[in-house]
Amino acid sequence: MRTLFIADLHLSEHTPEITQGFVDYVAGTASGADSLYILGDLFDAWIGDDLLDMPHPMTEVASRVAGALATLADSGTAVYLMHGNRDFLIGERFANACKARLLPDVQVFELHDIPVILMHGDSLCTRDEAYMAFRQQSRDPQWQAQMLALPLDQRLELAKSLRQQSDSANADKADEIMDVTAGEVIRVMAEYGVTTLIHGHTHRPRVHDMVVEDMPARRYVLGDWDTRHGWDIVIEEGAWTPQLRQFDITRPPQA
Ligand code: MN
Repeated sequence: MRTLFIADLHLSEHTPEITQGFVDYVAGTASGADSLYILGDLFDAWIGDDLLDMPHPMTEVASRVAGALATLADSGTAVYLMHGNRDFLIGERFANACKARLLPDVQVFELHDIPVILMHGDSLCTRDEAYMAFRQQSRDPQWQAQMLALPLDQRLELAKSLRQQSDSANADKADEIMDVTAGEVIRVMAEYGVTTLIHGHTHRPRVHDMVVEDMPARRYVLGDWDTRHGWDIVIEEGAWTPQLRQFDITRPPQA
């Protein structure tokens, strides 16, 4: 049994190297795995599943990704998709095209009967109040329905301006505001009664040893992919300790 976790690939039509690296990872590394969990921000932006019908450069990227994941799912690997703060508009239609199951914002995963929680990680960054307000708005089903009802070109414009706003706002934010809030991590882990958390989002790959309610605990942070490197976490049967790995995107691990 082998379980894989990835996040923050931020795929777009502008980074064909990462798309190729992802396709190679799915066909190579993930082949034969029990399950593949994609913990958010697979795409740098997602403006609605009807993108699959549109003449847009992203359509080809989305179709390739869906094709690669569907092939993996057909071979017996369970594929799970979680929303990130960039691709929160991914819906059932795209998930079905990937033969993937969409996960809620917090997913409990059983590792050898021990619960682990999986999150994208953005909800842990509670000191970023402007983002937390946007997050609440953007996860509202009514707001999403209004967004999805806009014509494609307007949605593309909106996605672009949201990205620019977020980039310029983030440039002004203190470094620690962009990271998770330690107290919020402990609160969530205590709420779910877990000592292991796996998330992405912060682009600060690391394994953090910590204490949650007097118990030793660990927080595993996935790294973001760039045109040279990818990151994943692998859990192998028998080892049961999650391993955080960085690899050359042109040579993803063979297992
Ligand atoms: Mn993110």
